[in-house]
Amino acid sequence: MRMYDIIRKKRDGEPLSEKEIQWFVNGYVKGEIPDYQMSALCMAIYFKGMTLEETTALTFAIRDSGDKLKFNNINGLRVDKHSTGGVGDKTSLVVTPIVATLGVKVAKMSGRGLGHTGGTVDKLEAIPGFRTDIPTEEFEEIVNRVGIAIVGQNATLAPADKLLYALRDVTATVDSLPLIVSSIMSKKLAADDDCVVLDVKTGSGSFMKTKEASRELAEWMVAIGKAAGKRMRALITDMDRPLGYAIGNSLEVIEAIETLKGNGPEDLTELSVALASHMLVISDRGSYEECEKNVRRVIESGEALMTFANMVEAQGGKKEWILNSELFPKAPYSMEVKAERDGYIAGVNTEGYGTASLLLGAGRNTMADKIDFSAGIRLVKKTGDKVSRGDTVAILYTSDENRFEASKKRLLDSTIIKNEKPTEEPLILDIVE
Ligand code: URA
Repeated sequence: MRMYDIIRKKRDGEPLSEKEIQWFVNGYVKGEIPDYQMSALCMAIYFKGMTLEETTALTFAIRDSGDKLKFNNINGLRVDKHSTGGVGDKTSLVVTPIVATLGVKVAKMSGRGLGHTGGTVDKLEAIPGFRTDIPTEEFEEIVNRVGIAIVGQNATLAPADKLLYALRDVTATVDSLPLIVSSIMSKKLAADDDCVVLDVKTGSGSFMKTKEASRELAEWMVAIGKAAGKRMRALITDMDRPLGYAIGNSLEVIEAIETLKGNGPEDLTELSVALASHMLVISDRGSYEECEKNVRRVIESGEALMTFANMVEAQGGKKEWILNSELFPKAPYSMEVKAERDGYIAGVNTEGYGTASLLLGAGRNTMADKIDFSAGIRLVKKTGDKVSRGDTVAILYTSDENRFEASKKRLLDSTIIKNEKPTEEPLILDIVE
């Protein structure tokens, strides 16, 4: 086989065979196919797309490029939840302790921030001492004892995705449906879970900007997961606004803690309750109504918060910080961002908000960057709120004052104020089973 012929075939819109797909994935991992040919193929896929059959073959080939996890020593059904990436999305920190409290095991592998989106592993590392890299034996012991453990992505899992993702990131080929589906699902299928609930984001803060594209993404991921023997469900949820009021690592952990106490923002609570309930339903824990009732009960009783605190302690973090979030250090500098005119917040460019947080130090511009855990944004006004000129719309936090101006500009440029109140959009747009 020749890479030239595969690129040409895809360039002309022809489907690739399973053998061709396996050949280029393996060749790329072995270093036999140069980046320039793989970039050309990614761009051809970006423009010509792939069928579901090709995308399934690509997903399986990426999954099979490395190790597959096997948790032989964990007792009981395991459930996972995965978001396609958003801004202010701390739902994993809320839903996983809830389902673990209700008896379904969570042996979770999470990612770091990607582009303008945040990552669960970075958020957890805002808790001092929290270890996201623990040996399998200890990981299994924690899952059995506490019900839940969350670690970073194992380096030997789906290595083809690591290479391909880094290449896509610099060749403007991230937002391609078959490439996103295969990237996410290869990692989910290499992990050892029985059930997966996907939170497929749609709108200005997500990789898929339209509802139609997000629905297709959800349908394909569910179909491929089922083909691999997993129980799957996907929710399509709005990312035309950040989730909750906090963006940035410690700010988001604190907001997740408040939500686990029952004092969280309405949107974050609504989505967390729905995701946790669906995770329980596909894990055979009863009807949706029964599961939702149980989810609300373990939030009210404080049991879910205690499971989170116990997991933090088991993974080396400070449990007392979870029980008293006042202990999280505050950023040394803060700045209020004011509305420049009267009106209503008609909408925001959520990706711009994610970038504004990144500019404060809450994310990385290069792999080598260190995260400023206390950096980020606390929103004061959100879409639909009335504002007068001079009202505070957000507060920026950072450890480096020089970062304020660029972040403030990005935030204001991403905030649309109009005279009319916008119509309220639902947060959960669709469910794919
Ligand atoms: N998350 C991933 O892991 N891969 C993508 O391509 C997009 C989001």
